[in-house]
Amino acid sequence: MTTTPKRVAVVTGASRGIGKSIAMRLARDGRHVVLISRSEGPLNEVKAGIEAAGGSASVIAVDISDAAAFAAAIGGISESHGRLDILVNNAGITKDNLALRMSDDEWNQVISTNLTSAFVAIRAAARAMMKNRFGRIVNISSTSGVVGNAGQANYAAAKAGLMGLTKTIARELGSKGVTANVIAPGFIETDMTHNLPQEVKDHVTGLMAIKRLGTGDDIAAAVAYVTSDEAGFLTGQTICVDGGMTMC
Ligand code: NAP
Repeated sequence: MTTTPKRVAVVTGASRGIGKSIAMRLARDGRHVVLISRSEGPLNEVKAGIEAAGGSASVIAVDISDAAAFAAAIGGISESHGRLDILVNNAGITKDNLALRMSDDEWNQVISTNLTSAFVAIRAAARAMMKNRFGRIVNISSTSGVVGNAGQANYAAAKAGLMGLTKTIARELGSKGVTANVIAPGFIETDMTHNLPQEVKDHVTGLMAIKRLGTGDDIAAAVAYVTSDEAGFLTGQTICVDGGMTMC
């Protein structure tokens, strides 16, 4: 009897927030999940949680804005695990400022962490996916990249850039069994949004059809579908998971 090997999924920014929810969900769905962020301690806690629930995971601590180190880490996964089926580029940062006051550093850090890293990871992962004639790439963008957001020129540019990158990769790799899609979260309760004033949270909730903030599990459910084997005809799409805020 032959057993089908577990699909191997990479999730960046898996130490907390949305990435942690995605990692837990993909593990629950039977994937081996490679957890990536800068700090090993929190990743090991997520790994322990996955294993306690009967799943399997491994940990790589790397700064995704260090292109050479990140590319080497992604390249090493297909060598050590024999395959790389699912890539979720989720890690991201904000460095908000009005455009006229935004420093080069604030611009460059956000572009390299939120956009360039996704390109680096895709380039490093694509060969293994093409070889197996199967791949699922998901880039976590934001509704800020769809409609813009005052104070987030760097972030909105990076998140919109992910959409152009994704559509291009979808066109380049579609014939090889590799899909690429964007999930664009709206307002999700995580560390990234925790410190925003209550009036901002109330205002944003008021703009939604579904009158509540989103959760990491809301995003993870969408990622679970677009990375599933059955989603092979869905590519180049942006799905806004935002409680009906933009209906993009
Ligand atoms: P979060 O709670 O701040 O978590 C960010 C994650 O990214 C952490 O695991 C962090 O780990 C990792 N990370 C940051 N910089 C990194 C780097 N240079 N190298 C490696 N890992 C790095 O953020 P979140 O709210 O879960 O957001 C996740 C994604 O969803 C982001 O792309 C964000 O832009 C997007 N998003 C979030 C919302 C929202 O409302 N929360 C809305 C729209 C889009 P370490 O710090 O340990 O490295």
